[in-house]
Amino acid sequence: MTSMPAPASEEVMYCQRHPDVETALRCGRCEALICPRCLVFTPAGARCPDCARLRRPPMYELGAREYALTLAVGVGIAFVLGVGGALLLPVGMRGGFFFLTLAVLGGTALGGGVAEAFQRATRYKRGPVMQGAAVATLVVADLIRLVLSGGVQLIAADLAVTLLLVIAGVVAWGRLR
Ligand SMILES: [Zn+2]
Ligand SMILES: [Zn+2]
Repeated sequence: MTSMPAPASEEVMYCQRHPDVETALRCGRCEALICPRCLVFTPAGARCPDCARLRRPPMYELGAREYALTLAVGVGIAFVLGVGGALLLPVGMRGGFFFLTLAVLGGTALGGGVAEAFQRATRYKRGPVMQGAAVATLVVADLIRLVLSGGVQLIAADLAVTLLLVIAGVVAWGRLR
């Protein structure tokens, strides 16, 4: 009696999709072993990739009505922002503390506002389609603004507004995730 079998609780388990990765995590739905490389966080907990695909929460699913509303809201916002921006924001605002502060504050507010508008229009849908719509709206808005201001090539001289839009895009992306 020199050796004893290891207790069952110390048994090493491996991810079903990554047989070289030790893990003790299981999918909350089908109980498949999963590891940090393949698990997917859902509002209901950690899931294996299969279950995450099967059980998409309704907030990520858009019907024809939501697609239409998203498109309408995006076009409307892009038009208002583009025309308003052409009237109010001079092209060629560069660095400088004042403009950078304006870009950060304005970008944060704009991104939040755009995300909010999309969410209200679609009764709080989110996910990649909404994220893409928000970013596309910001890009189109800036194109409208630049064209009205004299040409798309002006974007190179437009660091402050470009920064503002990048920040707005990141904020909206995060809000609609
Ligand atoms: Zn599963
Ligand atoms: Zn894995």
